[in-house]
Amino acid sequence: MEAIMKQKQPMKGKLFAAILVLQLAALIFLIYTFINCPNRNRQCPIKKANAGVEIVDNNKATVYFTDDISPAGLQKVLEPFLSRLEGNVGVKVHFGDDGNKYYVKPDIYKDIILNLKGTFIETNVLYRGRRRVTETHIQLAKEHGFGYAPIDIIDAEGETVIPYKGKHFDKVYTGSHLDRYNSLLVISHFKGHGNAGFGGAIKNVGMGLAAIPGKMAMHADSNPLTNPARCIKCGKCTTVCPVDAITLNQLVIDQTKCIACGKCVGVCPTGALRIPWGKTGENGFLERLTDYAKAITTGRKMIYVNFLTDISQDCDCMSSARKPFIKDIGILVSDDILAIDTASCDLVNKAYGKADTFLHVCDVSGRYALDYGQQIGLGNKYYKLITK
Ligand code: SF4
Ligand code: SF4
Repeated sequence: MEAIMKQKQPMKGKLFAAILVLQLAALIFLIYTFINCPNRNRQCPIKKANAGVEIVDNNKATVYFTDDISPAGLQKVLEPFLSRLEGNVGVKVHFGDDGNKYYVKPDIYKDIILNLKGTFIETNVLYRGRRRVTETHIQLAKEHGFGYAPIDIIDAEGETVIPYKGKHFDKVYTGSHLDRYNSLLVISHFKGHGNAGFGGAIKNVGMGLAAIPGKMAMHADSNPLTNPARCIKCGKCTTVCPVDAITLNQLVIDQTKCIACGKCVGVCPTGALRIPWGKTGENGFLERLTDYAKAITTGRKMIYVNFLTDISQDCDCMSSARKPFIKDIGILVSDDILAIDTASCDLVNKAYGKADTFLHVCDVSGRYALDYGQQIGLGNKYYKLITK
């Protein structure tokens, strides 16, 4: 019996040593993985909520590129992602404002949208024009060639709130119809923008899918400005104001009541109520825009297409956008919003021969949004470009 006990003790010791070695190996592996993750101070793309990011070559996101600007070229670069567009597919586009010549013409993606049975989705805008009101917004979209698929102005029946923990917001506002869609295809025209430097996927999602209170919150640091001389006393603003902050006799907004929701600005037909544009600093605006993109994309199936064509220094919301300042570059596709906008910026810089083209042509860099987006885990700005 004593002999058996003596034999068992060395076996126990060996087992203990083996477990110790295994635990040590696991610890070394974890430390190695942590050190080699380029985003270890941020949200590692492997773990990010918008699952499906194709990680190749040291945790870089994949961006596909073609210079074949045609339906066949688009089909080629979009092919790897098409199967991910499941269920009810919302297609976020920009219809182009009245008179704008450079928005992406919808014929180039017509077959793809029809095959997907997609619905074009948009939100009403803050400023005056036909895109402010649902009926005229849809009418304009049809005039611009988008009538071949259903059109849904997702905030036509109001907004929905998404809780969000961020630097600027604890909630964001999008259209109440957004939850009708199981996956989103975001088609963006990459070009300049007066406030954001460049307008690509981040702006198309952050601003383009925000309901009016969200648009207001991103643009403004304070309540609307009034111009009583322009007021025709139509009463539209008092009807929509949720806190009865507006008095029409002299057109006054009670600053103690106003919650800066922007609804009054959205309905005023004369410009008597305006957003205090320009008070928000450049980086503050970019952070808010990027926060909105993060809140809206988190947990959704998203695929992005950027058209680097007709690259004007002005947004598609400008009726008289200036002529493109460089020749067409191509089409990019990715499932990473940060990677596709970073790649788009880099390609424009390469074509234009400047390190920061939009700082040169728009006086606003916009690149801060890419760094801030990386910080808050919007996506991965480190990408691998694959030419198809
Ligand atoms: S911004 Fe909103 S709360 Fe303020 S006056 Fe206009 S509608 Fe009312
Ligand atoms: S919506 Fe504009 S024009 Fe009409 S009452 Fe209000 S401020 Fe005046």
